[in-house]
Amino acid sequence: MIKQLRVIKLTWIVLLILLLHIPATWAAELKCTYDANLGEPFLMRLVSPYALSDVTITWLNRQVPLKVIYTNNRHEAWMLLGTDVREVKPGIYELIVKYYERERYWTLKHNVNVKSKSYPTQELRLPQAMVTPPKETLKRIQEEAKLVANAINTITNERYWKVPLTRPVNGVITSQYGLKRIYNGNPGSPHRGVDFRAAMGTPVHCVASGVVILVGDHYFGGKSIYVDHGNGIISCYMHLSNIGVKEAQYVEKGEIIGHSGQTGRATGPHLHFGLYLLGHAVDPMPLFQ
Ligand SMILES: [Zn+2]
Repeated sequence: MIKQLRVIKLTWIVLLILLLHIPATWAAELKCTYDANLGEPFLMRLVSPYALSDVTITWLNRQVPLKVIYTNNRHEAWMLLGTDVREVKPGIYELIVKYYERERYWTLKHNVNVKSKSYPTQELRLPQAMVTPPKETLKRIQEEAKLVANAINTITNERYWKVPLTRPVNGVITSQYGLKRIYNGNPGSPHRGVDFRAAMGTPVHCVASGVVILVGDHYFGGKSIYVDHGNGIISCYMHLSNIGVKEAQYVEKGEIIGHSGQTGRATGPHLHFGLYLLGHAVDPMPLFQ
């Protein structure tokens, strides 16, 4: 009888020890929204009590490797995702997350319901040359478009970005993201960034740390800077009066990278700020402090 009691007691102790060693969650968990408005960014997190490696996500046919960090006794990989008001239709889109954990590869699939969002219309009056550029500028415009496309589709593995982002300038918003624009009476493509009021020469701050991947004086964007924050997250700053950084230069979050102006296609001094996630221009406003 005493021997039996001792066995039961021992069993309980063994069970208790086992229980204490069970992690809070059994396996990696994908934390991501089920609903997202068209054009709005959202954060996805892969969280695991076990070591994670080789984390790759696929979103809208683009693949990106993610760095894993160890924080609060958990292994985590983060990514900002979103849809581009110009390119994506409302509907269900699949996010695929692949990773290596406990000696094997795993795949998680998650549906995101991208819901329609109506954006206001804005009529603009511009010099006709800026709406219908003269023939001799078409080659230049095409070359610049190629450089910009390369820049906004850059995917690098280092993660410099962090949310919330720092505001590039303090001014109020004069044109929000997603505006349906009508130039001199003709519909153009929607506004793929945010315009901030900024007097000529206002210091422009980088919204997150990163590496400058493109600077130039472009026909439409004027003096522009593109910064790679890693994982396919790129920010851009247009219509500047001066550029204070060089390509391949590392910049810190909040660092002054240039000054606002009115270069390129601009009706007045302002800063056009754009945020691209895997090549998709999203509304940056939900990500600011
Ligand atoms: Zn703009």
